[in-house]
Amino acid sequence: MIKVAVNGYGTVGKRVADAVAAQKDMKIVGVSKTRPNAEAFVAKQRGYPLYIADITKKPAFEKAGLSVAGSVEDMCRLADVVVDATPGDVGATNKSLYEKLGVNAIWQGGEDHEVAGFSFNSSCNYRDAIGRKFVRVVSCNTTGLCRIIHAIDQEYGAAHVHAVMVRRGSDPGEIKKGPIDAVVLDPVSVPSHHGPDVLTVLPHISITTMAMIVPTTMMHMHAVQITTKKDVSRERVIELINNHPRMGLVRKSAGIRSTAELKEFAMDLGRPRSDLWENCIFEESIYAKGKELCFFQAIHQEADIVVENIDAIRAMTGTEKDPAKSIAMTNAALNFIPIQKFH
Ligand code: NAD
Repeated sequence: MIKVAVNGYGTVGKRVADAVAAQKDMKIVGVSKTRPNAEAFVAKQRGYPLYIADITKKPAFEKAGLSVAGSVEDMCRLADVVVDATPGDVGATNKSLYEKLGVNAIWQGGEDHEVAGFSFNSSCNYRDAIGRKFVRVVSCNTTGLCRIIHAIDQEYGAAHVHAVMVRRGSDPGEIKKGPIDAVVLDPVSVPSHHGPDVLTVLPHISITTMAMIVPTTMMHMHAVQITTKKDVSRERVIELINNHPRMGLVRKSAGIRSTAELKEFAMDLGRPRSDLWENCIFEESIYAKGKELCFFQAIHQEADIVVENIDAIRAMTGTEKDPAKSIAMTNAALNFIPIQKFH
């Protein structure tokens, strides 16, 4: 069993912890919180030992009825791999602790590539992560871009990618973030950071990205245009998506044309936390003519990176060297069957 600690039991951390607990070859040795809030009670309900970043806050946790197993350092000592899911830029400050303890660590997309020196996506560079001590799982948007760009690049060669990201303003639980009534260019300048971030995984790709944030919490929407090196076939692209374990197709038959309806579908399917781990590519939007391919894809920001973290754990520990096998194991343990199989 691979022993996994989750440092930062928030939006990403709580999902990664449940995904780890579902795997046959992994177990959770602890999760960490800074405050005794609702998520800490969820950790207790799940039976995850609770550790805290600031041990002087132990009385506050105990007063709330939450027993504390120890400090973050105590937790990290028990682990083969620490998944750092603390807020962006906080994770980097934990590096010296992981180095001191000699423990493997995975950071999230809120950290710079340099913190780990290696950026990961299961479908693109799993084998390169085998045996690495430090890995960064790229952000939700970059994960969604990497999956499809890599698949198209392998089939046709990608001469250039242009992608526009319409991003959710905040996660559903974030009550203090906005915008409430604006379309915010984020950033105003071009390119947004997403293109350069794709290059940390797929360095040879030519890509330009633009991004804005809008008043919604559910998902991001990407408008993607890829200029290919060979003529592209719409039917073949649909086949590539259908055959990919982490890409979903939203068919016309579902009558879905929004992120809201997608989340409703995921909820009705009984997905935990209504999570959509796959890219949700709208079949009707797939346009292929000559060397031009266009489509819309929706990305569930809280979810697509969760399954990538699980594969990163297996790659780093070298317990499974075949990416396809790890991806299949991860998906099976979560009962993750891409959405097109249900409509
Ligand atoms: P979050 O704020 O929801 O959760 C972070 C958790 O870490 C909280 O529980 C907080 O209490 C805890 N924490 C804060 N400081 C800590 C410390 N010093 N030690 C231990 N725990 C600490 O954040 P999140 O949205 O889950 O983001 C985590 C990382 O994942 C970031 O790098 C972010 O960019 C990345 N990410 C987030 C999303 C998303 O949609 N939320 C998607 C992809 C990647």
